[in-house]
Amino acid sequence: MYQCPHCGKPAITSLRKAFLGPGAPVPCQACQKSVKVSFPDWLKATLPGAAVMIAALFFDSDLAVYGLSLIGLVLMIGLHLLRVPLVKE
Ligand SMILES: [Zn+2]
Repeated sequence: MYQCPHCGKPAITSLRKAFLGPGAPVPCQACQKSVKVSFPDWLKATLPGAAVMIAALFFDSDLAVYGLSLIGLVLMIGLHLLRVPLVKE
């Protein structure tokens, strides 16, 4: 669970946060105020994984394509969960 910037209580689950984009605020489970992630933070967490996934498209071998795509996806979700703070809407 991730802490709400308004009330300090758990606001959303990890799964929900992994798919939280900068343009889509969600209500905190405790106080119902909107929380979101800021666009620069979101972009910084998304770019490395996206770059790896794009790089995968240039490989001929299926193994490299699937392997790199998976690494990119894990990187994207991992960075998002660890590095992107929740902010007030
Ligand atoms: Zn709250």
